[in-house]
Amino acid sequence: MENFNFYIPTTVYFGKGEIKNLASSIKQFGGSKVLLAYGGGSIKKNGVYDAIATELKNAGIPYFDCDGIRPNPPVADVRKGIKIYREHNCDFILAVGGGSTIDAAKAMAAGVCYEGDVMDLMAGGKGEIKAAAPLASVLTMAGTGSELDMGGVITGEVNHKKHTIMHPLLYPKFSILDPTYTFSVPEKHSMAGCFDAFDHLLECYFVAGSESTDVQNMMNEGLMRSIVKNAPKVLANPEDYDARANIMWASSMALAGFQFVAGKKGSNWPMHGMGHELSSLYGMTHGETLALVAPSYLAYTLEKAPQYTWLFANFARNVFGVTEADDNVAAKLAISKVKEFADSINMPKNLKEAGVEENKLAYLAEKATEWGSIGALCDINKEDALDIFKRAFN
Ligand SMILES: [Zn+2]
Repeated sequence: MENFNFYIPTTVYFGKGEIKNLASSIKQFGGSKVLLAYGGGSIKKNGVYDAIATELKNAGIPYFDCDGIRPNPPVADVRKGIKIYREHNCDFILAVGGGSTIDAAKAMAAGVCYEGDVMDLMAGGKGEIKAAAPLASVLTMAGTGSELDMGGVITGEVNHKKHTIMHPLLYPKFSILDPTYTFSVPEKHSMAGCFDAFDHLLECYFVAGSESTDVQNMMNEGLMRSIVKNAPKVLANPEDYDARANIMWASSMALAGFQFVAGKKGSNWPMHGMGHELSSLYGMTHGETLALVAPSYLAYTLEKAPQYTWLFANFARNVFGVTEADDNVAAKLAISKVKEFADSINMPKNLKEAGVEENKLAYLAEKATEWGSIGALCDINKEDALDIFKRAFN
């Protein structure tokens, strides 16, 4: 097993009514003036905004709204938040929403402590994160796991390229996870969130070095199984508290430090790399892009890295209950099971159906590998990525 660090400083308040901890927790972390970051206004319809406003007002904590944060958050939304934070001398950032809002808030938290432009602080940029404002989240959409990790993805201005921002200072101080807040999330986004969480687990599971990481593998399999079990329950009844609760907690756990390929050889998240290009070019929902790419990626990887056939077979048996004894057959079944799961929760069937143009596949493959080959069990270069996109086309 490889050496690894384990660090998750975020306090989680999980369950119905846990918003009651909001004001005291903000004060605990030195917050006295809050930048309240949120998205398109659904929190004003479902009562979440009012619940937060009441808590803050009762505690005498002033807050300033930064609304309208968009999905796949553009850097312009981050800059807007930084401006409002500075104008009002805020000292705490509260993100209310799903992954996009929390990701944007993380970039704001770093940006308010940096004199230059926030884009400098993205991975590979010329700046360095040396300080960050304290931030916390109230989660209203499960999937990305941003509530319990230290990273975010921001859309830049050039070609809508996705940039990563990541630093231990960007862990939320606390996150409030109330499953009832996700009851009103539309079906498409609920299911895309389920697949996103599932894919985070795939990205950490199919990684070189998995021969020796029994703890990670088996925890991972359990989380994947819980998503496969509960996503259809949410689909059938959006107000099924326990199904929503299990999806919410599995999504958080999927990205919490201890699932993060701990003890493996490392991954640069190839499915996300390819999926981000689909979001950049077509504005697609993140989880849907992963559902489009995952089956073809896994099939391609199995062919290119047959020494990991055993891992695919384990996955088929331990996640999907496949009883086939022959590893080669079970491994292939693993891939059809992933596709069946995606279909069962109404993910788009293929790139063509999702509106992707065939003549853009080469461009997508080039962009996905522009910083070098991506891979986890084997290298995926530009030609490999193109092959995967072609398989996913129809
Ligand atoms: Zn993701």
